[in-house]
Amino acid sequence: MSIAENLKSLEQIIRPTARLVAVSKMHDVQTIMEAYDAGQRIFGENKAQELTSKAPALPGDIEWHFIGHLQRNKVKAIIPYVDTIHSIDSLRLLKEINKEAGKAGKTIKCLLQFHIAEEDTKFGLDLQEAKEILQSDQFKQMQHIAIHGLMGMATFTDNKDQVRREFRMLKSIFDSLKGDFFADQEEFSEISMGMSNDFKIALEEGATLLRIGTTVFGERNYSQA
Ligand SMILES: *Cc1c(COP(=O)(O)O)cnc(C)c1O
Repeated sequence: MSIAENLKSLEQIIRPTARLVAVSKMHDVQTIMEAYDAGQRIFGENKAQELTSKAPALPGDIEWHFIGHLQRNKVKAIIPYVDTIHSIDSLRLLKEINKEAGKAGKTIKCLLQFHIAEEDTKFGLDLQEAKEILQSDQFKQMQHIAIHGLMGMATFTDNKDQVRREFRMLKSIFDSLKGDFFADQEEFSEISMGMSNDFKIALEEGATLLRIGTTVFGERNYSQA
């Protein structure tokens, strides 16, 4: 199947409940253009260096989402390109984004990344840490970031019940934070969860942004990276 056909069949499943973030990491500009020409506008990258090398060569109406772990010293480089950052895992990172976005005269949409998987290796906050950020005076003073929702990654497992439980946990954290901190803010509306292997479960559990790479572009060729 071609990229255009992959996108079309995905959209049939996803719409109208969620939007697709086509994860283009490790794919070249030409491959991304194939998806763009098929109508895709939201793309996700997980490395600052890769985003800043590809984005200038691609159309300006692409909405770039940063989905990987982000170090503070890489924030400045991605600010000119990025629309949404899915991977907020500390107040310090948020402060850096706010500072650099301010200099650039932008407001960056941010999602708080939660640790919902069993695996220790995945980054993210727990509910207590998120509340501490949201209650802090420093956070309340930030003018150049807007919290639009949450992101999470389920455990990499064939156990569908476990994956569903983890997505359900993210949804319940979303509902709780919505009530406590964002009740009057419509923009707090996004739940970024679901990848190629688990996006159908994520959709059923309330995902609004699906981060999908392999099902759009095919397998990534790691040996070429
Ligand atoms: C690579 C990646 C994805 C997409 O993974 P696929 O299995 O190729 O769909 C989603 N989210 C994050 C954070 C990723 O790094």
